[in-house]
Amino acid sequence: MRILVSNDDGILAPGIQALARSLATRHEVHVVAPDRERSATGHALTLHKPLRVEKVDLGDLVASAHAVNGTPSDCVKIAVGALLPDMPDLVLSGINRGPNLGTDVIYSGTVSAALEATILGIPAAALSLATFSDIGYEVAAEFALDLADMLGDHRLPPKVLLNVNVPRRETGPVPDVRITRLGDRRYHDSFEPRLDPRGRTYYWLAGEVVENEESPETDVVAIREGFISITPIHHDMTHHASIAMVRSWRDRAGLPGELSPTERN
Ligand code: MN
Repeated sequence: MRILVSNDDGILAPGIQALARSLATRHEVHVVAPDRERSATGHALTLHKPLRVEKVDLGDLVASAHAVNGTPSDCVKIAVGALLPDMPDLVLSGINRGPNLGTDVIYSGTVSAALEATILGIPAAALSLATFSDIGYEVAAEFALDLADMLGDHRLPPKVLLNVNVPRRETGPVPDVRITRLGDRRYHDSFEPRLDPRGRTYYWLAGEVVENEESPETDVVAIREGFISITPIHHDMTHHASIAMVRSWRDRAGLPGELSPTERN
């Protein structure tokens, strides 16, 4: 397969290099990634300044590698729109340094790179290592080969991608895989006020993770119990179950509007 690899930790991060080198043993791998860390930039696009692209050498196995002064979403867009010779068969984003569980997927640049691929109609997955230590990408990189095979054999529905988290494991074997839903994992934010050298106050966002999750069906608990977690997610944010409820609110509020399709028949 022709696989595009991106991330949000930057092209020099050990996670993306482990992923690219592992995939390149069996596939044609092109890397297009931010030139610096762009974690937690979500789905931001660069519209008000030029995008600059630099070739990077990631070794003989990797077909091509480019660093971009943009966000993860920029990287996937420019890779497909300008840099790659042909459409990739698959986009893999990662391996992120740190988990992307629960609400993390909203902020994650790693997930956004994969989301951008699904918007462009390309099968994709985001891969994260659930530790902030820089050791142990090998097990996740090895698992990425199996994941690529699975996504080569089966077609994801439109707009759906896989969010994959791998627990910290320094050596093999690859842990068991649990298919999950997103769990409840948030941050208790705190803004620490400090003084700059000119005596003015500035703030630094900090805080701690709050995990109120006990269900074994969730990504949060799967990682806690040592499983690889795969959550199918989608970017159609419509909450279908609420459409009828909000329509009834509209009608009771006396707001003007058409009859629903079922009422019309
Ligand atoms: Mn990151």
